[in-house]
Amino acid sequence: MSRASVPRIDTAPLAAQIALLPGLVRLRELVPSFAEASAETVYAVLESAAAQAADRLEALNATSEYAPPRVVDGEVVTSALYRQVWLDFAQGGWMTLDMPSEHGGQGLPLVIAVAAQEVFDRHCCAFGMLPVPIRSAARLIDAWASDALKAEWLPKLMCGEWGATICISEVGAGSDAGRMRTVAKPQGDGTWSITGEKQWISFGDHDLTERIGHCLLARTEGSRGLSLFLVPDRIDGERNGVFVRNLEHKLGLHLSPTCAMGFEGARGWMLGEEGRGLAQMFVMIANMRMAVGGMGLGMASAAADLALSYARERLQGGRGPSPVPIIEHADVQRMVLGVQAEVEVGRAVIYAAAVEADLARVESDPARRAESAALAQWLLPIVKTMGGELAFNTSSTAIQVLGGAGYTADWPAEQILRDARVLTIFEGTSGMQALDLLHRRLWKDRRAGLDAFLRQAEADAAALAAAGRDQLAGEARAVFSLLEETATHLMALEDHPHEAEAGATALLDLSITAAQAWGAARIAATDGTIPVHERLRALGGFLLGDLAGRAKFHAGRARRGADQLAAISALG
Ligand SMILES: Cc1cc2nc3c(=O)[nH]c(=O)nc-3n(C[C@H](O)[C@H](O)[C@H](O)COP(=O)(O)OP(=O)(O)OC[C@H]3O[C@@H](n4cnc5c(N)ncnc54)[C@H](O)[C@@H]3O)c2cc1C
Repeated sequence: MSRASVPRIDTAPLAAQIALLPGLVRLRELVPSFAEASAETVYAVLESAAAQAADRLEALNATSEYAPPRVVDGEVVTSALYRQVWLDFAQGGWMTLDMPSEHGGQGLPLVIAVAAQEVFDRHCCAFGMLPVPIRSAARLIDAWASDALKAEWLPKLMCGEWGATICISEVGAGSDAGRMRTVAKPQGDGTWSITGEKQWISFGDHDLTERIGHCLLARTEGSRGLSLFLVPDRIDGERNGVFVRNLEHKLGLHLSPTCAMGFEGARGWMLGEEGRGLAQMFVMIANMRMAVGGMGLGMASAAADLALSYARERLQGGRGPSPVPIIEHADVQRMVLGVQAEVEVGRAVIYAAAVEADLARVESDPARRAESAALAQWLLPIVKTMGGELAFNTSSTAIQVLGGAGYTADWPAEQILRDARVLTIFEGTSGMQALDLLHRRLWKDRRAGLDAFLRQAEADAAALAAAGRDQLAGEARAVFSLLEETATHLMALEDHPHEAEAGATALLDLSITAAQAWGAARIAATDGTIPVHERLRALGGFLLGDLAGRAKFHAGRARRGADQLAAISALG
């Protein structure tokens, strides 16, 4: 039997959610090209993405177990289908949706690019690992490169002729990038010679683009801090001292080549200031963390819809002579409704975060810009971690709904589960996202992002109450209060970081729960007069009923402290 396909997405809820975002109105006022992002444009973009994804990317994904990229004569080779799908994607302009128009982009709001990414990654998330670093590298180069490098690289990246990687990890430097050993030496002509070994570089080599620019961190003699370089794999058509050492065998994402890369005196160009590389790299990292959220959403929506369609077809049980569709059983309803609600609420959070990220860039009022910047930073570790967990948990529940069939390769749920597992590891593990929230967002920023979040969350709870859903508004407010109290408790532990760090992951979990309560409140307040709003209203309300209980659990864990955990050292 050939494997069942992921059904084409219904884009109506996506377009409806985008239309509900209050920040989008402001974005349209601020940026002329954003004003073109009318409801009709959004719908047309998403429908076109849905058609291409369900056709081309679904076909590509079907090859992932038997035709993954491989190394031939020291170079990574993909399939003819892969090359054609990439060409169609790049020529279709899918990488440039939110890119600035002065560099050949379409100048649309980021939220539309995130929604399109959700649609594409739903059918082949491994493929999505190629455009994301390219788009993020374009932003990095735009922010830090010389005019000459911008003129050389940006048009080529935008049209997909050239690729890019984020090149940080090394054997001894994973979460702790500061321990990296790759070195850069000045060549006296404005270029640098890069030597070192990088590991787990996504699309570190491939034949889908003519050239690959590695956005690489390395150390220099002149500074204690790391510096940022652009290192092309080829210069004037010749290899530039950049070699593929190995292609990893992984649990999932088989169509995404993960490479160990060697740099042997490769020529590179420094971007920005010497010693400021890690801070500068955050332009790229922020884009990529947002993209992990979009990717997780795409995978989760695929799994949730698979669960729903299977549950409507599969006949088992019932009191009469004939079996009934399993969707009629309360426990199956619990699972299917649960995953549909998690996806819709996750979408509300991720889309809102994308709008805040744009406002942080383009808002003209300084106070409002600062508020959006703080909120966007607060939401980033939440979006990244929530997206990863959503994809894994939803695919696991989908397997449960499909029963034994779900565990087999006849259905795509098991692949989604395997592919999803890495989302909470790369681009910073969840443990590191939690520490970011504690150290940077609470302590360093004096909770500016949290306060911005609580203001917006309360406004949405008030709107929900005004819509006549007082009890649900009360549930949302209970979650927000628990987050506020827990954050205050951990703020007070600044002089006891080890004690506070023991609660960091619980703080992240609680912050995710609060973000979900915020998203759920917004979509539950719709009037329900059209079917798509009725859906949002029902799913938001359903999830809100669960969130206060979850928040209590996380708040309790956040206060347990470090003493009990230290017992691990004494265990035999
Ligand atoms: C498929 C795949 C693709 C990847 N693509 C890229 C890429 O394109 N470019 C790139 O540069 N890298 C890439 N990576 C690497 C990825 O970013 C790292 O795996 C990740 O940052 C974690 O580093 P590590 O694996 O060394 O884990 P470690 O840092 O060894 O962490 C192991 C565990 O310890 C915890 N931990 C570590 N330090 C601390 C601490 N101080 N406090 C609390 N907990 C801690 C972590 O949270 C984790 O749970 C990729 C990895 C994979 C698997």
